[in-house]
Amino acid sequence: MKAYERLLRYTSFNTVSDSDCDSSPSTPEQLNFARYLAEELTALGIEASANEFGYMYAHIPSNAARGVPKVGFIAHLDTSADAPSENIRPRLITNYDGGDIILENGQVLSPAEFGVLSSYKGCDLIVTDGNTLLGADDKAGIAEIVTMAEYLVKHPEFKHGDIAIAFTPDEEIGRGTKHFDLQTFGADFAYTVDGGSFGQVQFENFNAASATVTVSGRSIHPGNAKYKMINAISVAVELDSMIPADARPQNTEGYEGFYHPTSIEGTVEKATLKYILRDHDAEELIKKKATVMRAAARLNEKYGGQVVTVGISDSYRNMADIVSRRPEILQLARRAISSAGGTPVSDPIRGGTDGAALSYMGLPCPNLGTGSHNHHGRLEFACVQEMDKCTEMLIAIAGLAAQ
Ligand SMILES: [Zn+2]
Repeated sequence: MKAYERLLRYTSFNTVSDSDCDSSPSTPEQLNFARYLAEELTALGIEASANEFGYMYAHIPSNAARGVPKVGFIAHLDTSADAPSENIRPRLITNYDGGDIILENGQVLSPAEFGVLSSYKGCDLIVTDGNTLLGADDKAGIAEIVTMAEYLVKHPEFKHGDIAIAFTPDEEIGRGTKHFDLQTFGADFAYTVDGGSFGQVQFENFNAASATVTVSGRSIHPGNAKYKMINAISVAVELDSMIPADARPQNTEGYEGFYHPTSIEGTVEKATLKYILRDHDAEELIKKKATVMRAAARLNEKYGGQVVTVGISDSYRNMADIVSRRPEILQLARRAISSAGGTPVSDPIRGGTDGAALSYMGLPCPNLGTGSHNHHGRLEFACVQEMDKCTEMLIAIAGLAAQ
């Protein structure tokens, strides 16, 4: 079976995760899907099982010489809550003509806006009907890993080392590694298959922190407020105006970090303003935290006393510090991409990945492309031929690691 056929089948599982639910996994459908995948792998003759937390582990024993590394492949079961995921109806477009793709609901997938489409002229695409996301993030990754596994067991003449597979829940809500069992997984290093274009080998992600700014105002009847009232709402807005306007998500790309206000709520007496702070450079992130603290200090000076307080907490770190010490892991992926006919590209991830957390837990774990794009929205799509290439790449990694 081809990877895209698996993706089409997997989209029937609505595996949206739920950040408001504390259980693991956060939604029962993820557990159903994990069990389904364990059965699918078991039917292929692979040892696989899903545990109560919704983690599915599988192992394929080595048929190569002893002493070769055990390589892991990881993808996530859940899909984003940022777009509807109920009743996904994927559409296969064969021999894409390179023009606009009209979906329902007035949604248009246009190469003018999404340049990568131009390179897919003549390919087959999987798109949504315009009412939901596709869930190729990360079911394309799962489909490719399962298709790789099928290839390995059906081609005993193809030499590979021990292979570990994990499908994890709740990645989209930041809990993908909460119950990850490194011992059960057992790999020496791994790859998350959770990126965009075929050819991506990502190993740099943001350093991340969040800041909560709390403003305590002083309420006075507005008729008698002159020189007396401190309006917490106004002070919160004032603080935001002191944060560099060009260092916002809407004005940054590549290696540029940002300050991103994610919520503001308030009354005259009390206002709370939340930011996420991001930078690939750890030193720069420290400076960003200092900028927020300095703005608060200036306002306290201006208004007298502790009007503004700031709480800062770290979220995740750039895996580059870990992975760059193991260049052979990146090299292996790059050789596999070349052997599958691609060009390796290492663009920085403008976010975090489970691989970052795993890298700091002792399992170096860069991220690879899946051949899908526009994740988390109705315009999400996957390219059939790129998914095939990604599968080829995974098979090549398994083979090259055993040489
Ligand atoms: Zn993902």
